Amino acid sequence: MKLLEEKIKSDGVAVNEHILKVDSFINHQVEPALMQQLGEEIAKHFGHRGITKVATIESSGISPALMTALALDVPLLILKKQPSKILNQDLYQTVVTSFTKETNYELTLSKKYINENDHVLLVDDFLANGEASTAAIRLIRMSHATIAGLGVLIEKSFQPGREKISAQGIEVFALARIGNMSENYISFL
Ligand code: 5GP
Repeated sequence: MKLLEEKIKSDGVAVNEHILKVDSFINHQVEPALMQQLGEEIAKHFGHRGITKVATIESSGISPALMTALALDVPLLILKKQPSKILNQDLYQTVVTSFTKETNYELTLSKKYINENDHVLLVDDFLANGEASTAAIRLIRMSHATIAGLGVLIEKSFQPGREKISAQGIEVFALARIGNMSENYISFL
């Protein structure tokens, strides 16, 4: 999507070959009108496939996911992070090992808000190694709901996330795909 690529070029900061900072419009400060257009684009791509809910991982996925859910006119499910395992019968729970942050955390979803009749679209800000999305897929599948796909704002295509998610039979749609980057340089696929 040209609009997002232009925005990344003007306001994104490639800290190094691996990390892109988009704090000024996605992660720290959010531009609602831009986010709405991005959410509508994801909704347009997946639209009309019987999607009943949009799901995301707190916290940076919330703004694009909310805008996508608004465009699809369905509820938004926020998968919650917990620092450690606290057994709870009312929750679906899965442990995520984050290689990037070298920490473990637990992702949780209340059994109240999902069931086997749901068809869920996952939305996140970034797709990098695909660890977070893989955990989200695992969690949603515990409820026997089905997954319509994964929509992300930015895919770092030089990392293995897309292959990992596609290998699980899930379609990946990214608004901007970064082929490679280095300090002050970003190229799109
Ligand atoms: P994963 O490696 O599991 O695909 O990415 C997990 C999460 O790390 C993403 O949802 C995103 O929040 C964060 N992340 C990964 N790479 C980047 C990056 O280059 N910049 C920013 N701001 N966040 C990232």
